[in-house]
Amino acid sequence: MKLKSPYLVKPKAKLKLSRIATGETGAFRNEGSAKTVLMEHREKLSGLQETFYASQQKALLIVLQGMDTAGKDGTISHIFSGINPQGCNVSSFKVPTPLEARHDFLWRVHAQVPPHGMIQIFNRSHYEDVLVPRVHKLIPDAKLRERAEDIVKFESMLHENDVVILKFFLHISREEQTRRLQSRIDTPDKHWKLSESDFREREFWPRYEEAYNYVIPATSRKHAPWFIIPSDHKWYRNVAISQILVEVMKSLKLKYPKPSIDPSKIQL
Ligand code: AMP
Ligand code: MG
Repeated sequence: MKLKSPYLVKPKAKLKLSRIATGETGAFRNEGSAKTVLMEHREKLSGLQETFYASQQKALLIVLQGMDTAGKDGTISHIFSGINPQGCNVSSFKVPTPLEARHDFLWRVHAQVPPHGMIQIFNRSHYEDVLVPRVHKLIPDAKLRERAEDIVKFESMLHENDVVILKFFLHISREEQTRRLQSRIDTPDKHWKLSESDFREREFWPRYEEAYNYVIPATSRKHAPWFIIPSDHKWYRNVAISQILVEVMKSLKLKYPKPSIDPSKIQL
């Protein structure tokens, strides 16, 4: 995948999230112009998805990760609202159930990998299986390194089977998380989004940052790249991600398949 993006993480690069801007807005001065471009991207994605679905040559797996309130749900609703729901699914990964926890950590993940022709969005993912145990020191470091290596091998195998993988870290500042949580507290219609774990995990912010600093470069590869998207401005986050999706889907150069019958020979 040839893609030039300022947000692409080079394999094995040194990462320090605290040094990367969260409030950047690229070439856009304001929300209005970004929204116009986002609409264009949505329309392009809708067309590209149709050939993607029809050709059945590739599958697209989009991984969304980020701190709580980083905007994973918002990204899904804003970017993919133009896409035919028949061609796109979302998997939300929660704390593993007792059955899931008895299997290897990729068991539940592999089952959600899209078949050719389909797009699958992972709202959280197998990366939680490195992040959470690293933050809470549940598994020895050596074992976590093995997990990161397993992820690289797993994603390579998917790539060899024509699964295109794009991984986005939605990068917000701690101040922005404070604003978003406060807004949830202040708005009755947002109370349903509040969960105890958001407030508990927030205390571990530096440890999560450290865990991401470790796992992102350890697993960013040409065939399964990570992008760190400045996400304090939701409108910029949406346009930055949709831009990458349009570019990648276009670069696949997929075509409608040849018809199995000759339409010119059909007489109704
Ligand atoms: P939410 O996405 O806000 O509904 O929260 C889901 C919660 O499940 C988050 O706190 C995640 O960290 C947690 N979670 C998801 N996958 C895993 C995992 N593999 N191991 C531990 N916790 C997980
Ligand atoms: Mg949450």
